[in-house]
Amino acid sequence: MLTKPVSSLVSGQPTQDGNRVPLTRLVPGQGQPGDQAFQTMDPFLLMDHFGPMVLAPGTDAGFPPHPHRGFQTLTYLIQGAFRHRDSTGGSGLLRPGGAQLMNAGAGIVHEEMPVPEQLHSGGPIEGVQLWINLPKADKRTPPGYTDLQPESMPWTALPGGRIRVLAGTWAGVTSPARTPAKIAYAHLELEAGARFEHVVPAGWTAAVVPLHGSIRIQGTEVAADTVALLGAGDALALEAAKPVSLMLLAGEPLREPIAHYGPFVMNTREEIEQAIQDYQQGRMGHLD
Ligand code: MN
Repeated sequence: MLTKPVSSLVSGQPTQDGNRVPLTRLVPGQGQPGDQAFQTMDPFLLMDHFGPMVLAPGTDAGFPPHPHRGFQTLTYLIQGAFRHRDSTGGSGLLRPGGAQLMNAGAGIVHEEMPVPEQLHSGGPIEGVQLWINLPKADKRTPPGYTDLQPESMPWTALPGGRIRVLAGTWAGVTSPARTPAKIAYAHLELEAGARFEHVVPAGWTAAVVPLHGSIRIQGTEVAADTVALLGAGDALALEAAKPVSLMLLAGEPLREPIAHYGPFVMNTREEIEQAIQDYQQGRMGHLD
């Protein structure tokens, strides 16, 4: 079996988004012109690792109401709590180990803000939001969201570590999350020296993103908050250089044109213009 080598390493960019939330934005195609940046990890668009941060008591850091169209977000919480509300009337509580899969589809307005207890007492926040592209045929589907409670995605023990499957199948475990794009996505923790190996379907994109600690892939060291895109081969194989917490990504490329502007990801510039107009004219709904 041929092990996939690292084909490129891209460091995340520290930034802020929403209302003073520090995060590391991981766009593996950054530096490439225009929308090509978002093709590199097809069908994934980008990953935001928010926090880890400790909210001071009374701090309202979060993501106030904003729109999306044309893709899905999978938001996974590692520490803290967030309350989600959206323009379809959906609402839910994100807890550590839980996730939320939101289909922006034809258009949605949502917010993710601290829960009242956390606003009052402060506390740690950390999580990962992954943008998963929608096939052209699904970009105008009705918006909505699915709560994925921690109990529906339990940790599974592995030699020297454990894995939580957030979408698709890893290590024989399948997540309840459903996405039109064919993907597999998981949170893996390993002790120093532990190894992990998994076959990835031929032709799929594969990437590994350590959140904390570091790994080695065929002798290449991959540090925290870095995307390691993998090249041709049968299996993703890695070794923990230090105790490590990392995200595993694999997916079948959509190979469709991408037009991106802020919170909208469509196929053409005309569709982006339409999205901006539809949002400005209130056609993506409102939060009550
Ligand atoms: Mn959002």
